[in-house]
Amino acid sequence: MGEKKRGHLFVISAPSGTGKTSLVKAVVEKDPTISLAISTTTRKPRKGEIDGKDYFFVSRNTFEKKEQNNEFLEWAFVYGNFYGTSLSTVEECLENKKNIILEIDWQGALQVKKKCHPSEVSLVFIKPPSLKTLKARLEMRGQDSQSTIQKRLGLAKTELLKSSYFDYVIINDKFYRALNELYELIEHKMQ
Ligand code: 5GP
Repeated sequence: MGEKKRGHLFVISAPSGTGKTSLVKAVVEKDPTISLAISTTTRKPRKGEIDGKDYFFVSRNTFEKKEQNNEFLEWAFVYGNFYGTSLSTVEECLENKKNIILEIDWQGALQVKKKCHPSEVSLVFIKPPSLKTLKARLEMRGQDSQSTIQKRLGLAKTELLKSSYFDYVIINDKFYRALNELYELIEHKMQ
């Protein structure tokens, strides 16, 4: 096998409440050689979230300046807030032969697919087993109001249609099964 020239970029997207964050966290714990990119957002931190660990929390003004300076590989307006991925962080990782995961929405994922070389990026979409399960998970999470849950469910229907643009689709029915599938896919790509 030839020497690896650059790292690989994994883009993971899913409707809110699909369990994407837990899956990605578990994959990174299983294989610490993969790093998880920290996004920049204009969203206010939730209870327990730490600036520079969960996100870089910035003002709308700062976000716009970064966008104008072309500091983002991709950015999108999601559920009422701006989110973006640092171009230099991703480029540095790939250059140093490190593999990196972006946990971003489908709009951002499609921008990444357009901008990166196909051999360097894999787009993975995580699906809930059904919309009914998704509703139950959002309610159980207890993080959002009923109106937010309804809004997110409405959006999920549109988001699920976008899975056809992704390279891989994983159904998160049983957590450990989905985790294994994601882990194997990632390990296989990294060889
Ligand atoms: P949350 O506010 O719940 O952490 O994230 C809301 C949504 O924004 C999720 O779908 C998440 O994947 C997405 N998101 C987080 N960071 C980024 C980013 O850097 N770019 C894009 N396009 N979406 C992001």
